[in-house]
Amino acid sequence: MEMQLTPLASGSSGNSFLVRSNGSAILVDAGLSCKQICTRLEQAGADPGSLKGIVVSHEHSDHVKGVGVLSRKFKLPVYANLKTWNAVEQTLGEVHRVEIFETGKIFEIGGFRIHPFSVPHDCADPVGFRISCGTAKIGIATDLGTATGLVTSLLTGLQLVVLESNHDPKMLRDGPYPWELKQRVRSRLGHLSNPESAQLLQRVVSDELQAVILAHMSETNNRADLALDCARSCLGEFLEHRGKIFCAYQNAVGPTIDI
Ligand SMILES: [Zn+2]
Ligand SMILES: [Zn+2]
Repeated sequence: MEMQLTPLASGSSGNSFLVRSNGSAILVDAGLSCKQICTRLEQAGADPGSLKGIVVSHEHSDHVKGVGVLSRKFKLPVYANLKTWNAVEQTLGEVHRVEIFETGKIFEIGGFRIHPFSVPHDCADPVGFRISCGTAKIGIATDLGTATGLVTSLLTGLQLVVLESNHDPKMLRDGPYPWELKQRVRSRLGHLSNPESAQLLQRVVSDELQAVILAHMSETNNRADLALDCARSCLGEFLEHRGKIFCAYQNAVGPTIDI
């Protein structure tokens, strides 16, 4: 194992991903309570004291809810870009330490090289992450309204891609969300639908790609079987060559992917 990723939770009510390598671990986002994160870390076989920091993608509460308490309790540095930090500082309260990164510029935490890249989403300066450790490379992009050229290129050539597959277009259209919220979700600054996500995945398949995790599925406007069917329909060749597709869930830890 060079690198290992475990979703602790993913969906509209809270997101957090544990990334481990030999002797090092970080969290990407911490959008559950500190207590919940600790429970789920334990389920994943990780000790919060072993974390080297929390990396924040953007300021929405489903990504930062537990950041303040976790940082204080376990003396964890918080990594964010300046605009995100400015947007979230008040709500997090005092944190152990802040490390400001620059979008587009690679930084390191405990052996992980982290490349934050811009994604289109309705907040201050949202990013996805390309993370490498040795020869292992993964990408995480969970809140984006559009698959830009930049996103496509940064998610290409990886062994593992964690990508949002937020909603089924029909379920969103016919579902209970108010009109304004439906518009927000499907806008260029909202969230990727199942077909949009599947088309992006089709473009980022390479010989290196081993596994895909569909993430940030809406509990109201999506179902895992629909998201999986849609992705599978675009990834025939990848699957024939023993590639694997998984879903990350709101209320379950895993799957753990080793690369
Ligand atoms: Zn968001
Ligand atoms: Zn989100």
